[in-house]
Amino acid sequence: MTDLEEIGALVDRRAETYIALADEVWRAAELNWREISSARAVAGRLAQEGFALQQPACGMETAFIAQWKNGTGGPVIAFLCEYDALPGLSQQPGLDEPQPLCAGAPGHGCGHNLLGAGSAAAAAAFKDWCTAHDVAATVRCYGCPAEEDGGGKVFFAKAGAFDDVDAVLAWHPGDVNYVLGQGCLAVTGVTYRFTGKAAHAASAPYAGRSALDACELMNVGCNYLREHIIPTARLHYAYRDTGGTAPNVVPAHACLHYYIRAPKVTQMMEIKSRVDDVARGAALMTGTRLEIRAIDGFSDYVPNRTLSQVLADTLRQAGAPAWDAEDRALAARFAATMTPEERAGNLATSLESACAPMEIYEGGLLDGTTAAYVHRPELAEPGSTDVGDVSYCAPTAQLYAACQVLGTAGHSWQVTAQSASSIGRKGMLKAAQVLAGTAARLAGSPRLLAQAREEHRRACPNGYCSPMPADARPEPAAEQ
Ligand SMILES: [Zn+2]
Repeated sequence: MTDLEEIGALVDRRAETYIALADEVWRAAELNWREISSARAVAGRLAQEGFALQQPACGMETAFIAQWKNGTGGPVIAFLCEYDALPGLSQQPGLDEPQPLCAGAPGHGCGHNLLGAGSAAAAAAFKDWCTAHDVAATVRCYGCPAEEDGGGKVFFAKAGAFDDVDAVLAWHPGDVNYVLGQGCLAVTGVTYRFTGKAAHAASAPYAGRSALDACELMNVGCNYLREHIIPTARLHYAYRDTGGTAPNVVPAHACLHYYIRAPKVTQMMEIKSRVDDVARGAALMTGTRLEIRAIDGFSDYVPNRTLSQVLADTLRQAGAPAWDAEDRALAARFAATMTPEERAGNLATSLESACAPMEIYEGGLLDGTTAAYVHRPELAEPGSTDVGDVSYCAPTAQLYAACQVLGTAGHSWQVTAQSASSIGRKGMLKAAQVLAGTAARLAGSPRLLAQAREEHRRACPNGYCSPMPADARPEPAAEQ
């Protein structure tokens, strides 16, 4: 029996327990920073496996660090658990038509229930493998709250919680099996609050100073700015305060919320300073006062080639989940909830990230293959994640495992439904096997770990500098 087969058996032995855990977190469907019962469930399971718990952790109520240590001098190998849900995506489990379990309630539309339980299963299986082979290692599981909004991992990173880690093995449910070889966008959220002076808009407009005018001018300025920033950067905004609803009052207050994204955190900070200047210009033009407040910030992702290659090799050896006729029938029903164009568009996005050809997926329902690893850190996925901050602190690799029908849109009711179906569960167990199998290969190879460390040192020569503002707190944002 190979190590990977042995680890597969260690995962399979736990399958029922970890499927029940994923389902429990799925039913709880708790939003960012409020994942009290989800965190308790995942951490509690690891405690039963023999891990020592630190909970809460790094000032976060719904975070934990679970650790198990064998022998002395071994590497520290870390797994990341997430368990937060998304607002408004409640859905009946496994049902192929939009029907919320509870109207308007949160749901696991990003599959973080599978993510958390899968990573915990990987840590547990790896721990047993270490015991069986008397391999010295520290196995650590980070319970990371608020991935969707807030960034639990950023608070871990700021506290130095990843500084002694030799390898971080992350994963995320998706529709294609691959290891991410490209970066993602760094992001910061900033509010621009303008304060002017109210006045009667007909009888004395000259006495007023419009905060709404300032917002509009700022947006016009930023829309002109777009042409003169790198094309891979993204600016988007929403009105947090429009200054009121009466057209006959000059609005004395108004507020914009901007997201500023760029492939590298340094580029993002440079663009942010230019957006700040545009806001200052708008305040000057309108005679209003401006308050700029950075709310949050995530770093870009730096894939570690050495670790990613081992992860991808392990994925190839483990292969795709063994989909059966029942899975395929369910997948066909979910596929029918999307137009062929929608599915093709979503699949194209996944394949772009996976750097995999469209041909082998055409007409397919479930991914039965594994994509080869392509290292291209100079490119960035169009989204953002707080795994990026982890990747600046320690060598990190990230697996995507098929837990959905090919072409499923992210953050959708279809993801919620499939995250509590046989398709999602099989993908989760496969991810656990691949992550634990990778950990076993790394634990047995100090040379690979040294190479990963050296590569990380070269890729992040300035270490980690968090884009999260110093006054950000790990708690739900106050309504503005
Ligand atoms: Zn997610």
